[in-house]
Amino acid sequence: MNAPLRLTIPHGVDEPGESYLSRLAARNGVDLSTDFCRDVELRFQDVVDGDPNELRRLATMAGVDPAALVAASFAREENQSYVVGGHRIPLRWMGRGTTRVCPACLLEDAANSDLPPEIAMHARFWWGTLLVGACPLHDVPLVSIASGRRPTIHDIVADLRGMPDPLPALLASLTPRRATRPERYLVGRLSGRHRDGAVPFLDGLPAFVGARFCDVIGAIRVHGKNTLPKTLDEADRLAAGEAGFDIVAGGADAVRAFVVNMIKDRPGDRSYNGSAKFVLGGLDAWLYQNKGNPDLMGLRRFLSDIAIEHLPLGPGETCLGLPVGRRVLHSVCTASKESGVHRVRLRKALVQYGFLAERQPRAPDHFMTFPAKAAAPFLASLAGTMDLGDVRSHIGAPRVHGQLLVQGGFLKPINLRDARGKGMLAFMREHVDSFLADLTRDARDVEDPTAYTIIDAAKRVPCGAMDIVRLLVERRLPFVGRSRDADGYLSVLVRPDDVRNILVPEGPTLTVRGFAEAAGIPIHRVRHLIYDGSLRSTLVRRNEGGRTVHAIPRTELARLETNLIGLSELAAAWGFKKEKAAYILRRCGILVVRSPIESQRRHYRMADIASNVGLRTRQLFLPQ
Ligand SMILES: [Zn+2]
Repeated sequence: MNAPLRLTIPHGVDEPGESYLSRLAARNGVDLSTDFCRDVELRFQDVVDGDPNELRRLATMAGVDPAALVAASFAREENQSYVVGGHRIPLRWMGRGTTRVCPACLLEDAANSDLPPEIAMHARFWWGTLLVGACPLHDVPLVSIASGRRPTIHDIVADLRGMPDPLPALLASLTPRRATRPERYLVGRLSGRHRDGAVPFLDGLPAFVGARFCDVIGAIRVHGKNTLPKTLDEADRLAAGEAGFDIVAGGADAVRAFVVNMIKDRPGDRSYNGSAKFVLGGLDAWLYQNKGNPDLMGLRRFLSDIAIEHLPLGPGETCLGLPVGRRVLHSVCTASKESGVHRVRLRKALVQYGFLAERQPRAPDHFMTFPAKAAAPFLASLAGTMDLGDVRSHIGAPRVHGQLLVQGGFLKPINLRDARGKGMLAFMREHVDSFLADLTRDARDVEDPTAYTIIDAAKRVPCGAMDIVRLLVERRLPFVGRSRDADGYLSVLVRPDDVRNILVPEGPTLTVRGFAEAAGIPIHRVRHLIYDGSLRSTLVRRNEGGRTVHAIPRTELARLETNLIGLSELAAAWGFKKEKAAYILRRCGILVVRSPIESQRRHYRMADIASNVGLRTRQLFLPQ
């Protein structure tokens, strides 16, 4: 234990340990604190670092109150910060390398003491933080009188001794500057002289956080939402601090109103993506920079809660560095993502059913927000559904084919109704996906020049596209290809011959023109034979919604050559009496053939009739 010193001095108000040590050394005739520490066996660095044990030893040695000395000294902590009176200040806000003083305070110390001036003048611990730039007692800026020159660092008596100008001259050279309210507030908090509860919102925050929050929120109010105080010059930063104090002095409600206003005031910017970061710019950046500081947690939570109530945020996202635990608002975008319903359709439905007011038809989907809870049942009924437009683009089918697929029963709409019983055409996504899977199940990447898309193959068969779809779904086609140039419906390739063989079991068919060419007779004659019933044909629809055409089985060619037709059948088909028909045939030079089966009846060769007796010929014989 160190023996009490004979020569001692009183401990100054707010005087930190290192200042007291420096003056005590001078009082005992030692020039440097470090030399004095060696003499009395104190650890200089521990005193500078505010180590309570070393400060108590110093106080006991000098016969002053140890508690007061400890309370007025910044103690270095592990995590890059200093603590005084229970208040933590991050290292970057500490002016540890310099000695900053208020000359007026020092001159007042000298004037009010019987001690020699250099021993009477003592430091105030709050000069040690860069968050305070002016003396609240004298309204003069704090001035640096020495910057980290060893061996006088942390040794105020030695620093003052080394000053080139006397203090009064230094004081006279300074431009007075009023300490801002955040500075006064911080000094009050750190020194324990602030009446707790006088500034309710700030008093609930750690001292450093409160003082800094004033600067941050003020910079946003004066210079815009993305401005951080560090980008401002000294005068603007101080003005921002005052502006911020105006807001926070109004309490939590005023801060909330300010933040809500920031959110509501977002510009109609297309780049807005619904994130908190976008609308809370400077606040978000500041909290991000301090992400490791536990002192900001309370404020972070307070601000994050406000943001969650006014922005479309939900679980899985972060807001101001905190995970979002609940959803209050949906935007058209977030609801679309969650329900799987396309944004355009969802927005229409939300307006239609009164969840959204279509006041801003051009506002981006991210801006269109609505209460998530109230809309939850509606969204749930809509979830996983698509309208026909969605379905068409999803499966890659042209517009007409989308409707045909519904008419053909391949796509089955579900009966979706809102609370008022109004129906909507909706399809379950899983149904649509399962249909698409059925359609493309057998598709292989095999080149086949005779394969066509469903649409083109239907024209070539000819048949309806839905006939081919049915064959695909029923897996009845021997070959299904896949085009790399398209997706879904349009990527499926089938061979028209395969389809024809299944749809027209009697074999390949001919069109009227094809039949005429094959038989070597005019087209209109073929038509007459069909109308007469002499040629078998089926009516098929060449394309969707188009006109029907005749498909004549190829086998009819042979029948035309060999088949005979009776006079009575011909006469009935032509609408003449038998004898008149016989007269016409005779005039046309068509000979009667006797059928081996019915030798009593007059028969004619169909091929002869097709070649020689046209409608015009018959018309010549119509009754006048
Ligand atoms: Zn002062």
